[in-house]
Amino acid sequence: MALSRALRCCQRIFSWIPVIIISSVVLWSYYAYVFELCFVTLSNHLERVVYLLMFHVCFIMFCWTYWKAIFTPPSTPSKKFHLSYSDKERYEMEERPDVQKQILAEIAKKLPIFTRAQSGAIRFCDRCQVIKPDRCHHCSVCETCILKMDHHCPWVNNCVGFSNYKFFLLFLSYSMIYCVFIASTVFQYFLKFWVGDLPNGPAKFHVLFLLFVALMFFVSLMFLFGYHCWLVAKNRSTLEAFSAPVFQNGPDRNGFNVGLSRNLRQVFGEDKKLWFIPVFTSQGDGHYFPLRTLRESENPLLANEGKWMEDGGSDEESADENGPSVIIRTES
Ligand SMILES: [Zn+2]
Ligand SMILES: [Zn+2]
Repeated sequence: MALSRALRCCQRIFSWIPVIIISSVVLWSYYAYVFELCFVTLSNHLERVVYLLMFHVCFIMFCWTYWKAIFTPPSTPSKKFHLSYSDKERYEMEERPDVQKQILAEIAKKLPIFTRAQSGAIRFCDRCQVIKPDRCHHCSVCETCILKMDHHCPWVNNCVGFSNYKFFLLFLSYSMIYCVFIASTVFQYFLKFWVGDLPNGPAKFHVLFLLFVALMFFVSLMFLFGYHCWLVAKNRSTLEAFSAPVFQNGPDRNGFNVGLSRNLRQVFGEDKKLWFIPVFTSQGDGHYFPLRTLRESENPLLANEGKWMEDGGSDEESADENGPSVIIRTES
């Protein structure tokens, strides 16, 4: 018992290593850019002020979005998706799997659930004892069910899902802007050092590494960002891109795809002014998503919200528990 607790504790500590690595690189880049480039290398005062101002805007936006992606707790299913005491007893007392499925199907009738397991049964998480809402998956690193789970990201040491998907996308965007800004402003000084126009010294190596690291991060982020842009446009999570959600009529990759504009609004919200600011503006509460096959009047987000939201019940949010660096691990 004590051993497993110690192991879990070690696991939690180790899971912060990727975040520490990223933070260290960012802190070094701050020192290298502000001190070694702007104060030591640059001689033009106006250029220095402009560079410093623009750098700090990029730096603050990057830190803000990274912080939000790391520390926003993932949303978990609300109470009404948990089995009541009597339902739980009935479910556990029953030994025949078919009857168990019927019990779940009966309970699920009261819930806005459209997706099914591969077998056609209601999706149920044995570990959390919860009927999984559409797009919800169990994360074995966090050891809980996560609403609209995308993937468990070791670089933010958090589950990327309904509550922080917008922040994760903004984090990718601002990371790329940060890298592009550094690379484009450092490049001319890199050339000057290269041809011997500037004296040798520690600044030369900082500038050289700034360019190299910024380009390296930019190229790797570009692919991930491109992939997520495609996912947002199609309204798919990473998990759904790997395995299409199953509906009553069978699997449908585009089951939640309601058109580019509405797909974007689902993640970023109605107010375009807030799209690029890391404040939560995603539509809905993560339990219901409009379906492509349903008429607008039948879409849960638009029409039946009142019906399904009547008992309110704020989501229980549980802090992420850390685990090894695993990108995706789910059980559906
Ligand atoms: Zn679960
Ligand atoms: Zn997770």
